[in-house]
Amino acid sequence: MFDLTTRDIKYLAGVGPQRASILNKELDIFSLHDLIYYFPYKYVDRSRIYYIQEIDGNMPYIQLKGKIVGFETFGEGRSRRLVAHFSDGTGVVDLVWFQGIKYILNKYKLHQEYIIFGKPTVFNGRINVAHPDMDDSASVTLSGMGMQPYYHTTEKMKRSFLNSHALEKMMSSVIGMIQEPLSETLSSKVIADHHLISLTDALKNIHFPSNPELLRKAQYRLKFEELFYIQLNILRYAKERQQRYRGYVFETVGEKFHDFYKKNLPFELTGAQKRVLKEIRWDVGCGRQMNRLLQGDVGSGKTLVALMSMLIALDNGYQACLMAPTEILANQHFETMKELLFGMDIRVELLTGSVKGKKREAIHKGLLTGDIHLLIGTHAVIEDTVNFSSLGLVVIDEQHRFGVAQRARLWNKNIQPPHVLVMTATPIPRTLAMTLYGDLDVSVIDELPPGRKPISTIHQFDNRRESLYRFVRKQVEEGRQVYIVYPLIKESEKIDLKNLDEGFELIKSEFPEYTICKVHGKMKAAEKDEQMQLFASGIAQIMVATTVIEVGVNVPNASVMIVENAERFGLSQLHQLRGRVGRGAEQSYCILVTSYKLKEDTRKRLEIMVRTNDGFEIAEADLKLRGPGDLEGTQQSGIAFDLKISDLAKDGQLLQYVRNIAQEIVDYDPHLQLPENEILAKQLKTLRKTKISWASIS
Ligand code: ADP
Ligand code: MG
Repeated sequence: MFDLTTRDIKYLAGVGPQRASILNKELDIFSLHDLIYYFPYKYVDRSRIYYIQEIDGNMPYIQLKGKIVGFETFGEGRSRRLVAHFSDGTGVVDLVWFQGIKYILNKYKLHQEYIIFGKPTVFNGRINVAHPDMDDSASVTLSGMGMQPYYHTTEKMKRSFLNSHALEKMMSSVIGMIQEPLSETLSSKVIADHHLISLTDALKNIHFPSNPELLRKAQYRLKFEELFYIQLNILRYAKERQQRYRGYVFETVGEKFHDFYKKNLPFELTGAQKRVLKEIRWDVGCGRQMNRLLQGDVGSGKTLVALMSMLIALDNGYQACLMAPTEILANQHFETMKELLFGMDIRVELLTGSVKGKKREAIHKGLLTGDIHLLIGTHAVIEDTVNFSSLGLVVIDEQHRFGVAQRARLWNKNIQPPHVLVMTATPIPRTLAMTLYGDLDVSVIDELPPGRKPISTIHQFDNRRESLYRFVRKQVEEGRQVYIVYPLIKESEKIDLKNLDEGFELIKSEFPEYTICKVHGKMKAAEKDEQMQLFASGIAQIMVATTVIEVGVNVPNASVMIVENAERFGLSQLHQLRGRVGRGAEQSYCILVTSYKLKEDTRKRLEIMVRTNDGFEIAEADLKLRGPGDLEGTQQSGIAFDLKISDLAKDGQLLQYVRNIAQEIVDYDPHLQLPENEILAKQLKTLRKTKISWASIS
């Protein structure tokens, strides 16, 4: 059968070695197969004129013929936009301009016939076409070409005349070579059950759609397949792991747990905490190895759930370990745990990079003999030199700082892998969680401890410092504490540190009567601790810091979080920062300070922050604004997201759908050995060999 994967791109007509090498480097295209899986990002249909009543938000670029029946402007300043109501007698669409409003108003006349060309989108229930091309209807002749694909190209490609049109021609000749159907990559059962079109038809129509209907079918089939194999891979792996590894069985919930519950627990658990603990108890008792992701917004009380889960491990004769992403956090957990476990016969130790020499040796030994029950630490705990007598449970706090590879290293700490509980305060949108952590079970704490007042968030321009400082003074006089955070990123580290220092000096001179402390990641650990301690103990009223305080730090008396240059932070980061306040009973505030000039998407981010405290809503919005590739979770887990056609922000429903299908298949035929699944097994193997880091997805 005709196999595109074995055909080198350089032998395609019009390519040759030089252009082939550019395609290799710029787009990772080596074979005809790679080429044909490089999909258009848009389509242009100049072949016909559509009626407004036919169109919806799923169209390519199309043409309409009609008249402007009225102009309106909305908004002010940067968000000002011009809307022209455009009618063709079958319906009305809104033409929208964000720039050049004056020019447009001068140029286009009411009640004159135009042909407009653009991509319809649906916004607030109305069909919009933003910045359309417009021509007098008399001046346009229709082309006979049908829908034309457009491909993204790079600067380098353009310089060698490898523009979209050149790619289109190459696609056309490859499609022309396909005389007989390509070998299918989905089983005929899946294709039939879900009414998919064949691979060959899909590939032909994704490049040169015969009509919008077939384009939609092609897109559906290819997205279906892409997401389906990701899920099949993860679920098969999860199943396999389930079958291969027995989990330690924590049979009893014993003395330690009950003692703690009765004597030491400082408050009633929330309903959500109780529910999650039940889920965990079931998991660790059923003989399976637990791999659970615990999501809970900042301040929802994950630490307590971690501790009580670890007590179950201890009750069953195992050790437990809690891993945090930074020393500050590890320290803090250590202090919290010691306090919570006060008076109980449990030995807790702290192991971080700064624990050295004799002390470290003693810990190593204590872990081996089993004298140490509970270890708290940073990455240091997964070094090869650290060995346990019987590690039963590992809790990883703030997972997004830990790579998947590090998670895997835990497996080697014991003959049988310990139970793993991963906690994150960065709510991950469902779709992303299913893809990134598709092998994990998910628990959610969706309830805050009682008595919390929602944090009030305010966006303020930086020319209003006086009122800002008056507010700070008032809060401090009432006995509260204040964080002031500056951005710090690698690329501009020097300038950022300078800004932080200047900010620190400014605050010192503004509030000479207060104690101000300063913390940033470049400090020596001892100095950092000292400064943190000043704030935690209440001696310092104001802390000036970089994002080192982003994760987990807990000072309930702090009620104001001021973020300077808030425009430079991402949504989830802002949300994390905000979560540092609002932990006590007092009303808390988060003040986002920016300059006056803001980009559109920055404005949107700030609006969302002001509007909602709900971490999940923020995470969804973040995914939509930035796309999955940029999300912290994906980058830091080291997973290359190489989705060619699906969009996790938009295809959530399809993802859930194909996941269910994959689950059914895996449940029925875990090793994909049935004849009907032969193609699936084969395709999975092929995909694993290709460059996508499938290994790390699983
Ligand atoms: P996070 O989920 O962000 O890690 P923490 O575990 O640090 O949250 O808890 C935040 C604060 O809420 C802590 O001061 C903790 O003692 C308190 N807390 C946790 N659970 C409860 C509860 N059920 N009732 C009251 N306060 C609680
Ligand atoms: Mg925490």
